[in-house]
This record gives sequence, C-alpha cells and structure tokens, in this order.
Amino acid sequence: MSEKVLYIELTPDEFKERLSKVPIAYLPLGTLEWHGRHMPLGADGLISSGFFMELAKKVGGIVLPMLFIGPDKSRDVDGKEYYGMDIHSYPEHHPQKLLGSAYWVNKRLFRDILEEILKQLKRAGFKIVVAHGHGPSTMAFYSGIKKWKDELGLDLFTCWRDKESDGLGIQTDHAAANETSLMMALRPDLVKIENLPKDKDVKPLGLMGKDPREFASSEEGKRIISLQIDRMAEILKETLNKIN
Ligand SMILES: [Zn+2]
Repeated sequence: MSEKVLYIELTPDEFKERLSKVPIAYLPLGTLEWHGRHMPLGADGLISSGFFMELAKKVGGIVLPMLFIGPDKSRDVDGKEYYGMDIHSYPEHHPQKLLGSAYWVNKRLFRDILEEILKQLKRAGFKIVVAHGHGPSTMAFYSGIKKWKDELGLDLFTCWRDKESDGLGIQTDHAAANETSLMMALRPDLVKIENLPKDKDVKPLGLMGKDPREFASSEEGKRIISLQIDRMAEILKETLNKIN
C-alpha cells in the first residue's frame, strides 16, 4: 500500500506518528471555477492537492482537504455580480457569468477563515503550514504571513517564487499552458484538450496565459512538478532543521 498523506485518511495514531516526525500541514487552496472547456471545475484544488501529496511523500507532513471558496476581483454590472474570469476574460467586452463557477467570498472573510484554520492547526500540533492554489487565495494567505507568524508562532509558506515569468512555477496562469500541463501530469484522465476550438486563431474562453493547445504537455507538467518539489523540499528541510 502506498504511503498515506491525507489528513482525512489517518487514524489518530497514524496522525500522531506523521506529525511527530514532520509537523507540516499542506493546505490546498481550491475553487469551483471555470478553467476552460478542457479542464475540471476543481482544477485549482486538484493541482495543489496533487502537488502537495507528492511533496508530503518526499518531505513528510500531512495534506489537508482542499478549500473550495476563495476571494477574487468582483464587479457589479447592471445589478448582477461577476467575479474572477467572468471579468478578466472580457477586458474589451461585457462580463459574462462563466458556467460552473461557485466559489467567491470576500477577502476579509477569507482571511478570517484562514486565520481560524491556522489556529486549529497550531492547536493540533503543526509548526509549519504551506498553502497554495488559486491565485487570489494564495495572495490572501501570503499577505497574512507576517501577522500570523508573529501572533501564532507558525512558519508559513506559499509555493510562489520571487519571479514566475518563466512559467515553471505552480499555478502561475489560469487554465493555460502552466495549469493545463500540471493537470495533465497529475490527472491526465481529467483533461480534454479536444474540447477547445480546433482553429488556433479562435481564442479559448476564460483562459489567461499561454495557449494550452500549443504549449501544454504532461512532460512539461512533470518537469515543473519535479523542479518545484526539489525547491520546496529544500526550503522546508531548512526550516525543520531550525525548529528542531
Ligand atoms: Zn486555476
């Protein structure tokens, strides 16, 4: 049987054993959100959970269930509420409600939820928390790191690097080449590239970043995952050494 890393699958004794070895919790920041016609609505949480499961197998630690609510840019147009890619994909057009999206909460509430989760994780015995996934959720976590570090004494990380312009980070676009490659590497059964327009001149709906029809592949996804697993493992091991 393969190593169990999911919080929800551990018995109390298994939990205690993993926690005492490596007190890291991984929090996948998901959404239920349009990720193009070729990707599942839960892409953000599936990718971050999948990445965290591999990271936990390498470094140790425990992977939390994915969240599926998160903040995003929002706008009222003619009394209707639009958010995230509803707006971003239409810089020159009227916003439209993209099919299946159901995740929006305001940033303040989301930060409060994160804070309560962190308090629970501290109480349960964790010393390090890594959160990553949906961009605006990751940003909300990132912006709270200093405060929560001071108040709760936890070491906190996202998986972002200082510069993400090379497209080799974890979830650095929206349903485009980066996220599609990651999904292809982790859950190829859930990616349906054939659902995108065949004509390359027709821009796929609700994507942001490089065209996945041209630039996405499972090889690229695997390369990104292996690079970022190594990088995060180094950061986390260094932090664990300081704690111990
Ligand atoms: Zn995404």
